[in-house]
Amino acid sequence: MKPIYDHFLFGGDWNPEQWPEETWEHDIEMLEDAYINEVTINVFSWALLQPAEDRYDFTMLDNIVALLVKHDFNIVMATGTAALPGWMVRLHPEVIRTEQSGTRHVFGGRHNFCPTSPYFREVSRALAAHVAERYTGTPGLVNWHVCNEYGGGGGLCYCDQCAAAFREWLKAKYGTVEALNQAWCANFWSHTITDWADVVPPVNYGDGISDAKCVVSGLQMDYRRFQSQAQLACYVNERDAIREYDAATPITTNLMGTFKDLDYFEWAKEMDVVSWDNYPGMDTLPSFTAMCHDLMRGIGGNKPFMLMEQTPNQQNWFPFCKVKRPGEVRKLSWQAVAHGADTVQFFQMKQSIGGCERFHGAVIAHDGTEDSRVFKETAALGDELARIGKRIMGSEIHAKVAIMFDWQSYWSLEGCVGPTTGFSYPNEVHRFYRALWRRNVPVDMIESTMPLNELKKYDLVIAPALITVLPGVAETLEAYVSDGGNFVTGYMAGIHDEHDLVVPGGYPGKLRKLMGVWIEEIDALAPSETIEVHGDMVDAKGEIVASIIHREGARRLATYGGSEFYAGHSALTVNDFGSGKAYFVGTPLDETGMNAFMAPIVSELGLGPIDTPEDVSLSVRYADDGTRYAFLINNGNADRRLCVGELNGGEELLSGARIDDLIELGPYGVNVIKL
Ligand SMILES: [Zn+2]
Repeated sequence: MKPIYDHFLFGGDWNPEQWPEETWEHDIEMLEDAYINEVTINVFSWALLQPAEDRYDFTMLDNIVALLVKHDFNIVMATGTAALPGWMVRLHPEVIRTEQSGTRHVFGGRHNFCPTSPYFREVSRALAAHVAERYTGTPGLVNWHVCNEYGGGGGLCYCDQCAAAFREWLKAKYGTVEALNQAWCANFWSHTITDWADVVPPVNYGDGISDAKCVVSGLQMDYRRFQSQAQLACYVNERDAIREYDAATPITTNLMGTFKDLDYFEWAKEMDVVSWDNYPGMDTLPSFTAMCHDLMRGIGGNKPFMLMEQTPNQQNWFPFCKVKRPGEVRKLSWQAVAHGADTVQFFQMKQSIGGCERFHGAVIAHDGTEDSRVFKETAALGDELARIGKRIMGSEIHAKVAIMFDWQSYWSLEGCVGPTTGFSYPNEVHRFYRALWRRNVPVDMIESTMPLNELKKYDLVIAPALITVLPGVAETLEAYVSDGGNFVTGYMAGIHDEHDLVVPGGYPGKLRKLMGVWIEEIDALAPSETIEVHGDMVDAKGEIVASIIHREGARRLATYGGSEFYAGHSALTVNDFGSGKAYFVGTPLDETGMNAFMAPIVSELGLGPIDTPEDVSLSVRYADDGTRYAFLINNGNADRRLCVGELNGGEELLSGARIDDLIELGPYGVNVIKL
């Protein structure tokens, strides 16, 4: 597809407002030495841009922009609305967020607005309009950036404004209190409502058990939907203000991977290009990072995305923040490109000397020189991207496997009060994803409501822990499998409808016919407990839960071992349904078990695998002209030697060498191979 930019953007957040103006140009010249060609500015400048309710002052931003224009920089211009000024909270205390505990915030922090505040909508739109009016047409302006990391301030808002807006949202959705009562099973614990005024948000001095769980689970689900949409309306509000002045420049906001509070599939539909911030911790597996990239590509319809932020060195908010090892940032950057990023951007360009981010990595560290390891590594990466980044832009990933990532199931699974608190929805998705990643099988991440004609593009569709089956989804999946598709789901699947009510008649509810199984009970395992799973192909362990399966046409692939009363019952099954197959995984398999389960499916469908050593991953992007770019990445810090026949004869673009059998990858080594 046509690339969205003329250049491969390499740069990121620059906050010159934290520094004396006389230092700015020297900093820009240093960044130029590192091949940096873009900066993202004005993310947190509201207090400077609007020092009083009736006064704007663009003097400093004008000077910043003029300097960037002079140096031919590409500019990603933020609207500056991500942190409220002090005067605003003093004059309009209702503009700021209220905790689940009922505590209203005072001035401070960031991402701290109430998303339904009419005043916030008014002033944020006004600032976005002023910024757009002033800087539309600026040479080098390549992207608008609305607000920042929506929802990153720490939770939903539970204020009176939100309560009132939620009641209106419910009225529009349900029409009558009777319909609401039915949807929420409100006769439970005397929750039957006779007046809309009786609805209150799930505060933790009401129905909220925690920020994830609620006495009335339908209330929790609807409140999350409402808050995600309210935040999205704030984005749309600013986006539309920009569009009144600038009809063409793409508009985005930076997302956060598997962030729970916002249904990013809904969000991406309102964005011209998806951008996101990648901050793996020191324990984050490379496969989890790869999954996040694929998810961010997936929400945007599998188009290339922006890597809006990553750190050039260590983060600052984990308990223990390791410095990135030599080559590690380069590896992370190329991993993003391998999964569809068309930009590489950092937070931030120059390390703060004050504030809580002063120990967060930056291209220009506290020493202020080009002598640091981080600066030199950034420059070397910039050189590589300047040489070959542009030709990769616009190329796409071709996947025959799709994994459903469903925010409704995310909220529902982690909202369950019983049978276990052991589930993290993203970890369950990753459990399946990793088995494919290990085999270098490309994956698209899709929403559960994907229509049949699009679903048919895939040979294999996996729906981990799809506890919420929205209307029409079961019917679509039946048609997909009946027509020859292959479907995998399992534990916890199909239990709830869209109202978070259990579908009567036995689990997995509307998926029962397709899967050919009835799950009678779900046993919870203690944190250190596992259950044996034995079969012809699988000899492994399950954890967290064990589904007690009765087969209703499905064939047995493995059984539970050990001494539990359900030992000998099916743990893994497959159901022939029409001309396709539906696999049910009764328990979260350990890595050995998941690999053993997935291997024959991948082989049978001709999806690969391409074998690479431990830690080495291979992914491919396809250009319109038929060129393929293979990214061979050593995700570990040990030397690796390998032979991949499919790559022989290819040109390694970073070194210019021909691939001829043996490939050697040093720690965090990267090969970009043109085929
Ligand atoms: Zn609120």
